[in-house]
Amino acid sequence: MHSTKPEKLDLTMPVQFVKGVGPTRAKAFEALGVKTVADLLEYFPRDWVFIPEPVKISELHPNENATVAAVIEQTDFRAFGRQPMFKAVVADETGVCRIVWFHGGYLKNKLTPGKVIVASGKPAVYKHQLQFTNPRFVVLDGAGAAEPQSLAGPVYPASAKLANRQIKRIIQPIIDDLASTADEFFDDKFRAETKLITRPDAFKWIHFPPDAEKLAQAKRRLKYDELFLMQLGLALKRYKIRHFSPAVAMNLTDKIDSRIRRRFPFLLTEDQNNVIEEIAADMSKSVPMNRLLQGDVGSGKTVVALYAALLAVANKTQAVIMAPTEILAGQHFLSIERYLKGSDVKRLLVTGGITGKKRNEIRKKTGTGRVDIVVGTVALIQKDIEFANPGIVIIDEQHKFGVHQRAGLIRDKTTHRLVMTATPIPRTLAMTVFGDLDVSVIQHCPPGRGKVVTRWVSPEDRSKAYDFIRQRLKAKKQAYFVCPRIEPGPFDSHDTADSVKAAAHHCKILAKVFGDFNVELLHGRMRSDKKQDIMSRFRKGQIDVLVTTIVIEVGLDIPNATVMVIEGADRFGLAQLHQLRGRIGRRQDNSYCLLFAETENETTKSRLEIMTRTNDGFAISEHDLKIRGPGELFSARQHGLPDLKIANIIEDFDLLTLARRNAFELARSDPMLNQPNHHNIRRALIKKFGDKLGLVDVA
Ligand code: ADP
Ligand code: MG
Repeated sequence: MHSTKPEKLDLTMPVQFVKGVGPTRAKAFEALGVKTVADLLEYFPRDWVFIPEPVKISELHPNENATVAAVIEQTDFRAFGRQPMFKAVVADETGVCRIVWFHGGYLKNKLTPGKVIVASGKPAVYKHQLQFTNPRFVVLDGAGAAEPQSLAGPVYPASAKLANRQIKRIIQPIIDDLASTADEFFDDKFRAETKLITRPDAFKWIHFPPDAEKLAQAKRRLKYDELFLMQLGLALKRYKIRHFSPAVAMNLTDKIDSRIRRRFPFLLTEDQNNVIEEIAADMSKSVPMNRLLQGDVGSGKTVVALYAALLAVANKTQAVIMAPTEILAGQHFLSIERYLKGSDVKRLLVTGGITGKKRNEIRKKTGTGRVDIVVGTVALIQKDIEFANPGIVIIDEQHKFGVHQRAGLIRDKTTHRLVMTATPIPRTLAMTVFGDLDVSVIQHCPPGRGKVVTRWVSPEDRSKAYDFIRQRLKAKKQAYFVCPRIEPGPFDSHDTADSVKAAAHHCKILAKVFGDFNVELLHGRMRSDKKQDIMSRFRKGQIDVLVTTIVIEVGLDIPNATVMVIEGADRFGLAQLHQLRGRIGRRQDNSYCLLFAETENETTKSRLEIMTRTNDGFAISEHDLKIRGPGELFSARQHGLPDLKIANIIEDFDLLTLARRNAFELARSDPMLNQPNHHNIRRALIKKFGDKLGLVDVA
């Protein structure tokens, strides 16, 4: 039927029908993720080459980028010596210069005397003459017009089956048509205010920019659009939850407040009180709370969570508390049990081990409202448990992000929601991954905590450090030694630095070093009763030095342990080091964190240095984000990091801020995107998110 190719480009058209493509190249394109014309339009170059206009040889200056067109006069190939090298002497009517290509053997038959080449690069003076080294070049075949600009242009991510040159040749002739299919989102006034060029221009120049300035403008526009659509998605999601799904409005009376506070054996800190005020204000409305509570390890989040849970219970609803692992859920339950001793609030721990009849009983209780507070893992609670009357869901993520996205609603019932995290979230991420949440922060830990001094110790100071630790032990303090591995690896010989880092081996060495003290080993592969036994003896002070792996990272609270040595500290990430250090400095005594590491790597050095400089988790995670990037810090899929093609939330932070402000404003003024001038935005949003954000029914 379709014997002729469609002539006009439309975005849904398969790339196969684009001139110069055909079935074979269509396959090669598909392997690069390009199926339709729209994909081709968004197949952005990864780099661009600009070359200067050609000049005469007499106009060349040393060390300045230049392009020349010249005739090859003589060539020479030396295969021997230190480096194989292909040399040419070229000339135009104004002078002569030299060009060399290292490893240029392949040029022997291509660059023969008499041919004309265009070369672009930065000449330097060599033996009193100007010389280009490994310049970009093309050979002009006598017939062809001089095309020096074929040296320049976009550099596409290519493959073995589809070269950059071919992709360029396919896109270049149609770029004007292609770019004109891009719909504009904004009116002229808005674009003038925000200094954004039009979308068609942006698409044209991102592929074939006439100069670096236009390229920068094109990038800025496309980045803006990407960030804007992402933020608008978040804004509309938030709008929808707030306006269409009511939660129970919770009443906080003085009587309820004082009954809750009586449960705590201490006065709440100012930060805790402020955060509780924010939470209670949210919960007093039928608009569901959607709040993130940030606070470093030990800052007192559990107390705040319990306050919110008891407020929900006082209002005759159920509170659900979720943790990422069973161990953490168990720990939460234990501390809640301590605070609620003698209370008639009915609480329940749901663990994985409970099956059959017992499980049915649990379901009966939660389903009929005969239990007030339920604690468990996200998976367990969401699997098959129904709640008669859920009022609040509290999710503790510790340092594992990601569950909050799935855990918003308990079985179609809207609840207030509080997400707690001990990983300080840099502002960039707070605005993207967590962009639809309100944020509360506990900055300061409860009072009466000593300083934590952190030192980076080099190998030659190890024995001095041991002397210092011995003094602390004599003063009846305890110490952790954290090692990156349990046993020496197959490639570690027993006396290398590496093997010292392995806990089991290191424990034996330390037992000798600290001969008068009790040194014991704890690691994750031990049987759980053995672990319990070691932990309880360490807690009682019967063990002085605990040699361990990162099993102690989470949840340990042993105030008398005031020294932490981290062996091979260069092998731990910043977030991990910070979490580990959170195990000390828990009471009034000063504590000491010694980082043992030897490294020449600059990134690692800067990581260790920042640890010695600050205890501020926010500063540390901002730094971490900068040196590692968001993808490394939070595995993108798991943590819902936005999938960005061109923008970068760190480098483009200012643009992100602008896009966010404009997106949230738009969501406020036209949440349905009903106004005719917003239709293109709505279409783009639906195309980007489908019904993932419920936009289709919003629209
Ligand atoms: P987080 O969950 O943020 O790591 P926790 O709530 O477990 O912190 O509190 C850490 C420690 O501080 C606990 O031992 C707790 O009893 C104590 N604590 C919490 N709030 C206060 C307070 N206001 N005054 C004194 N101690 C507190
Ligand atoms: Mg806690």
